Amino acid sequence: MAIATINPTTGETLATFEPHDAAEVERRIGEAQAAHLVLKATTYAQRAEWMVAAAAVLEAEVEATARMLTLEMGKPLAQARAEVLKCAKNMRFYAEHAEGFLADEVLDDPASVGASHAHTRYEPLGVVLAVMPWNYPLWQVVRFAAPALMAGNTGLLKHASNVPQAALYLDALFERGGFPKGSFRTLLIGAREVAHVLEDPRVKAVTLTGSEPAGRSVASTAGSHIKKAVLELGGSDPFIVMPSADLDAASTIAVKARVGNNGQSCIAAKRFIVHAEVYDEFVGLFASKMAALVVGDPLDPTTDVGPLATEAGRDELAGLVDDAVARGAMVLAGGSAPDRPGWFYSPTLIVGLADDARLVMEEAFGPVATLYRVADREEAVRVANQTTFGLSSAVWTTNADEEAWFIRSIDAGAVFVNGMTVSYPELPFGGIKDSGYGRELAAAGIREFCNLKTVWKG
Ligand code: NAP
Repeated sequence: MAIATINPTTGETLATFEPHDAAEVERRIGEAQAAHLVLKATTYAQRAEWMVAAAAVLEAEVEATARMLTLEMGKPLAQARAEVLKCAKNMRFYAEHAEGFLADEVLDDPASVGASHAHTRYEPLGVVLAVMPWNYPLWQVVRFAAPALMAGNTGLLKHASNVPQAALYLDALFERGGFPKGSFRTLLIGAREVAHVLEDPRVKAVTLTGSEPAGRSVASTAGSHIKKAVLELGGSDPFIVMPSADLDAASTIAVKARVGNNGQSCIAAKRFIVHAEVYDEFVGLFASKMAALVVGDPLDPTTDVGPLATEAGRDELAGLVDDAVARGAMVLAGGSAPDRPGWFYSPTLIVGLADDARLVMEEAFGPVATLYRVADREEAVRVANQTTFGLSSAVWTTNADEEAWFIRSIDAGAVFVNGMTVSYPELPFGGIKDSGYGRELAAAGIREFCNLKTVWKG
């Protein structure tokens, strides 16, 4: 895949970039390694000062940076602005909390292990490789980079090939805040070069956010070299609506949870599982709200849904819908690509999926919602858990007993009750099953790329 910015709204190539050659990659790995040796000798207070300064740079440049994101991958401009500001918030969050999250823990009763004293401490691992996707070109990276740098690690970024301008912006951002040269380095390389970088002995660990095939490939390289890996992969999150739910609120949030970021979010609600008692009413509300969305130029403030980021992504999504329809499913809204330039797909609602329709098991990475009518909570959970994914989930109910039962029964990294899944710096984020392993954000996220060292004194 060429390393280029192609505007998904028009299909026009705006900029192309030469990939880094082997010598440049080597130089950049060397810089990241040298920066780690400097960084690990600095204090939390010093790193926090640099991190806050880098956050201020982001905030000051929100307009230009948001426009760059929209031109590279097509998200509506207001959502691009929100992404930039969320990154700054995460940077400030880790600047404030890293030291506490990584504080030493002293054993209260050292005699129980035959010691006069024992404690644990967190130490940085070194250079960490980040392989990242295009859907949140800044947020996915900063979600990793802010805690990593605050812990004293340094980062190498292999970003998706269609967001090179975001990748180069991130290459400079942390140094502009004051971090030592090389603390965060972008590698303009193709996916095929990733294994070679990960095999380098100076690279100690890897984090990948992306598709399941990419995750399998990177995890197997990491495994064969005994390197720590965190995988944030795909999802096909269930959104369950029970009879006690506020249907108007649930249907409004259902639309937002499905079409935000033009439907290209790992934690988007993708499968809507509705109790038979309220199914018709909920579907009526959901369909009319989906049909009312404005599809158009993501730079236009009245647009709700812009294009998909790539032509291949649009074709893949259209293929999933066509397959479902060929197997007897019914389209209640959308169901086709509008006749206009760019890689658009209309917000779509589908019911009556055959068991063998690809949409039952595969992730729909675009504004396509599928609906399931269920008889009771047991059937709701059976449908919710039937995919190989397990990222997040949402449940709408005001019945306390039902709520507790769903929280226990859904196989996923998170359950959001009467709301939609959102990632917050304060809460751990990650999946189970084919959605990956490890956690980002909160205390759990910063600890992933640290050596938890045990100290025992006789
Ligand atoms: P992708 O094709 O897997 O690409 C992600 C990154 O991995 C890109 O940098 C890509 O580079 C690289 N890559 C692809 N194949 C690789 C391989 N075999 N070895 C090493 N690197 C490889 O995914 P995407 O289409 O950009 O993103 C969409 C997917 O990401 C969806 O499945 C979505 O659910 C998932 N996602 C998950 C989360 C989460 O937190 N769990 C968040 C966002 C997205 P190239 O661009 O050069 O191919």
